[in-house]
Amino acid sequence: MKQQRGSMTNDFNIINSPKENGIFEFFTDLGSQFFKSLQCRHCGIHYQYVKNSGIQRGYCVKCGGPLCGKELCIKEDVPYEAQIEIEEGNKKTIMKYINTQTCQDILRKQIEISKKYNK
Ligand SMILES: [Zn+2]
Ligand SMILES: [Zn+2]
Repeated sequence: MKQQRGSMTNDFNIINSPKENGIFEFFTDLGSQFFKSLQCRHCGIHYQYVKNSGIQRGYCVKCGGPLCGKELCIKEDVPYEAQIEIEEGNKKTIMKYINTQTCQDILRKQIEISKKYNK
C-alpha cells in the first residue's frame, strides 16, 4: 500500500478551484486532509477558512472578495493587484494610493531594501 507521509505544516499542495480561492491538501499520517482557504483581496495572504470560527475577517465590497482581518486590510482599500504595481514602481498606481498607509509601508520597505544592497 502506498502511503504519503508528511508534516501538517510543510507538505501541502494548493489546488486552484474557481469556486474557492484555494484548497490546501495536507498529507498526514492519517491520510490526506483538505482545508478550504481564502485569499485576502488586499494583502494577498491565504488563510484557512473555518466555518463559524467567530473570527472577524471582513469583506471588501469594492474588490468583491474576502479580507484577512488585519487592521490595515480592513481600514484601507488597496487591492492586492495595486500593491504589486506599487512594488513594481507603477507611478500611476503609486500616485493613486500615495496617501494610504499601505502604499507608504511598501515604499518605505523598498527604500530599506535598496539601502541594504547599495552600500
Ligand atoms: Zn489582508
Ligand atoms: Zn478592497
